[in-house]
Amino acid sequence: MIVHFRGTRGSIPTAQSGTDITEKVVSALLAARGKDLRSEGQIREFVGDHLPFHIGSTYGGNTPCVQVETGSDECIILDAGSGIRSVGQEIVNNSPSGNTIHLFFSHFHFDHIQGLPFFAPAYIPGNKIIVHGGHENIESSLRNQMQTPFFPIDFDSFQAEFVFQKHAPGDAFNIGDAEISMYKLNHPGDSYGYRFQQGDKSVVYASDSEHPKFAHGKEYDYLDFIKGADLLIFDAPYTHSESISSREHWGHSSNVMAVELAARGEVKTLAIFHHDPNLSDQELCEFHSHTRKFLDRSRIAVREAKPGIPGAPSPRSHPYDVIMSYDGLILNI
Ligand SMILES: [Zn+2]
Ligand SMILES: [Zn+2]
Repeated sequence: MIVHFRGTRGSIPTAQSGTDITEKVVSALLAARGKDLRSEGQIREFVGDHLPFHIGSTYGGNTPCVQVETGSDECIILDAGSGIRSVGQEIVNNSPSGNTIHLFFSHFHFDHIQGLPFFAPAYIPGNKIIVHGGHENIESSLRNQMQTPFFPIDFDSFQAEFVFQKHAPGDAFNIGDAEISMYKLNHPGDSYGYRFQQGDKSVVYASDSEHPKFAHGKEYDYLDFIKGADLLIFDAPYTHSESISSREHWGHSSNVMAVELAARGEVKTLAIFHHDPNLSDQELCEFHSHTRKFLDRSRIAVREAKPGIPGAPSPRSHPYDVIMSYDGLILNI
């Protein structure tokens, strides 16, 4: 499977300001002092391989949208945050009509649906959009955001054929040779996670969940849902201290909880997702390095057989890696 992150920011689209860009350019030029950068190749190598990520690039600011390619002609998109706009443009550029698109919704909070009115294939006759979700009111939730006075044209302006499919936790269904199952997450108004299993490869998209205190206990069936996943996409916008104080009950989890659950679920790669809109690229880089340090410290504690560190990964050292997802990241699973 190929997983293409199109929008990784939570809550609200987060644009870079002019000052942000100026600071990146200044930092890059300062870092370039004394380097031999005469050719374009040398400059590109320096920017791509030597500059810190937060100077040479950005995590992006689009709200949640992830594309999963399974080799089937049918397109799979997870959530319709503002990141879906670029997917739509690519689909239309490749083949304007005749597409079958599966659109999975975790839930209908604004950051997960706000891109749909800008999804170009929805306006073209001959396209078929199959909407998957676990909530009772899938169709009305999508229609409502396009009602007057919230949007200039209504849902019926869409010319594509829409089909709505409600699933229940525990259901399993197929798209091509990929088997999909669903899990109910703990979030205000509920959210649903999806597991895509294709042969021996698996990707879990589980965004917008505040894992409860009993998640630390032995009996937590979420662990069965993520068991052995090659990639777990997990919303972790908070530090541990935020998650148990000012942001408790906000419906999201911490990086510490992410590492603990990924370790116990024997996940191979943990992708932190749904980034806090208040954090700059530099702060997100620091968040990543703190998360990595926690993972490394936990592994050392396990090796030295010193119990007591909460969330210590299993001796098998899962997850192998923790990454920060960013808009535009493509992973080959
Ligand atoms: Zn969200
Ligand atoms: Zn939400």
